[in-house]
Amino acid sequence: YSAKCSAEKIAVYAGSLDSDNAQRLILMTDLRRAIDGDELFLLFQPKVKIRSRAISGVEALVRWKHPEQGLMSPNQFINFAERAGLITRLTYWVLAAAVRESHVWHGSGQAVPIAINLSSHDLRDPQLMEHVLGSLETWGGSPDWIQFELTESCIMDDLSAAQHVLMQLREAGFKIFIDDFGTGYSSLSYLKRLPVDYIKIDQSFVMGLDEDADSAAIVRSIIELAHSLNIEVVAEGVESKVVMDMLERWGCEEVQGYCISKPISGHDFQSWNRAFV
Ligand code: C2E
Ligand code: MG
Ligand code: MG
Ligand code: MG
Repeated sequence: YSAKCSAEKIAVYAGSLDSDNAQRLILMTDLRRAIDGDELFLLFQPKVKIRSRAISGVEALVRWKHPEQGLMSPNQFINFAERAGLITRLTYWVLAAAVRESHVWHGSGQAVPIAINLSSHDLRDPQLMEHVLGSLETWGGSPDWIQFELTESCIMDDLSAAQHVLMQLREAGFKIFIDDFGTGYSSLSYLKRLPVDYIKIDQSFVMGLDEDADSAAIVRSIIELAHSLNIEVVAEGVESKVVMDMLERWGCEEVQGYCISKPISGHDFQSWNRAFV
């Protein structure tokens, strides 16, 4: 049955369900419609090399323009998409949109790698690899067009699945980032067992760095640890020049945050990139 029809049914049933469940059912129908339609879009946030200030890539961040609720941030619907079994389709949507955007940027000589966030469910998707390669093939792309970000907790959900998928991605030539590093697990031994190119230090440690000695100590030891394993470091949530300078002194390779740019549209990114270089 169509999405529209089920929305009407839910509206009828809503009175008899508790409002949380009703809300959830409506949201599920809406999200399905959003993925199939044109309500989702991507914003792109640049990452730059601290030393040279050269752009190294962008992160794709999904947004949902809900017809009634307005603009929704991923924190409002990603968890929900996971629980509702819609995350695979959402990931495919993001992948396709990112590759299409990359194709446009290549056409205008503005191309940089686009990093995509994966969810733990994606690591258990046996068709992920096939889908990634298929999306690239559609637009004549190659593995340097796309990168992958996975959080520590997503990896630890199923370490052996993560190992398997990350090995496959690495062998195909994709770069891999561990996202929100420092928030997930105290055990770091898993890093040795995974093909990781970059660690992204979580913004909660980075934002108050200049005023909080504990955060500073954590960030410095993460940088040291990463380097001792031959892994490079990106700091997220860099909002000030002061913080950026401290990170540079400590040997952090790359930064991402409002200090460089907020997440912007693909179109705006092209002019930003032109002005930046
Ligand atoms: P994340 O991957 O750690 O992305 C970074 C988040 O921090 C983004 O929020 C970004 O807008 C925000 N941010 C960047 N720089 C700064 C800064 O200087 N200061 C502050 N205060 N915030 C900054 P956003 O776009 O709301 O995304 C939130 C989370 O949603 C992401 O965290 C990611 O885990 C998830 N997400 C976003 N897009 C996708 C997607 O396509 N698929 C999946 N599975 N998850 C996604
Ligand atoms: Mg990310
Ligand atoms: Mg992050
Ligand atoms: Mg995050």
